[in-house]
Amino acid sequence: MEKSIYLLPGDGIGQEIMTEAVKILDWVRREGLLSMNLTSGLIGGTAYDLTGTPLPEETVTAAKAADAVLLGAVGGVKWESLDYAVRPERGLLGIRKALDLYCNLRPAQVFPQLANASTLKPEVVAGIDIMVVRELSSGIYFGQPRGVETLPDGRQKGLNSLVYYTDEIQRVARRAFEIARKRQSRVCSVDKANVLECTELWRNTVIALSGDYPDVALSHMYVDNAAMQLIRNPRQFDVILTTNMFGDILSDEASMLTGSIGMLPSASLGEESALYEPIHGSAPDIAGMGVANPLAMILSVAMMFRYTLDQPALADRIERAVNLVLDAGLRTADIWEPGMQKVGTASMGDAVVAALSA
Ligand code: NAD
Repeated sequence: MEKSIYLLPGDGIGQEIMTEAVKILDWVRREGLLSMNLTSGLIGGTAYDLTGTPLPEETVTAAKAADAVLLGAVGGVKWESLDYAVRPERGLLGIRKALDLYCNLRPAQVFPQLANASTLKPEVVAGIDIMVVRELSSGIYFGQPRGVETLPDGRQKGLNSLVYYTDEIQRVARRAFEIARKRQSRVCSVDKANVLECTELWRNTVIALSGDYPDVALSHMYVDNAAMQLIRNPRQFDVILTTNMFGDILSDEASMLTGSIGMLPSASLGEESALYEPIHGSAPDIAGMGVANPLAMILSVAMMFRYTLDQPALADRIERAVNLVLDAGLRTADIWEPGMQKVGTASMGDAVVAALSA
């Protein structure tokens, strides 16, 4: 059956890297490996300029109808003085909410060819392959009550609430167990159950659910220790499952172990929808110059084939092609080092397509 892929290039380098992602999708179609229907729409600053809103209604409708959404990036200096309600970033938050994307996957993998890019010693980061599974639609970022109020005595009080319901914990934990089964079958659930009652519920709910996954080894870690262990011995982790705020912080920490923001894909999954995007932003400093690294976007395409389109062989093939290109010494400016061949965005995309057929 034909799959529908909805493309949202967005702003800045989002447009350039999406062009390279489409080259990969076109290759898959040319080879007759999967039938796909590609359509594209507007989001972010580009959408604001053309329609007056960063998230037009048509975009939401089309995204909901698609099997998967591929997103470039949003934002840029041009729109920074706009009211918060119509800033490009609102488009991104809005579409995550509209599609009820509750499970964020952020892999942190060190390509051996790029082990020197990390600020940590190559022997510490070599071989790391971590998947952070972050709850994305609940927790302290959404809990009520919240706000800042002025008290009768003139002091101000700031309040946010950490709230989780068992079903919210169960649905993201199920995803983590299922993903672990496709990897090394280990889940480390990160919480602060020694201090926060809400995360004690998190821990107990994950333990109760683990009975359904006897083949997956479950461990638990407090978030402060997890932050430390990620730097001390990152190879110990396979899948890290955690709450919205802890995941926000730990996934950035884990991705920086690799040292190369232009290499990192991500996925946000709901029950009915899925959105794939690189973790980086629109990089206004290099937009339009043809030098952006398209590999995070291309690896996001690989994740889409693995997690939504049920095409693990195609995902493997794209990841292998990226490895071949790196083996051949091709590097965009952000990952270049002396002795390597510096290439632009389009040449890197073309090289991956060529390697797909190799
Ligand atoms: P950024 O990720 O856009 O850029 C940070 C640095 O990394 C820049 O020096 C940039 O040139 C470089 N970089 C990023 N991606 C690269 C790539 N593929 N190839 C080569 N170099 C790359 O973060 P920022 O500068 O903090 O934010 C710029 C804009 O992007 C802001 O408007 C911000 O709100 C937005 N943003 C959007 C997203 C998103 O769309 N998901 C995420 C983060 C930031």
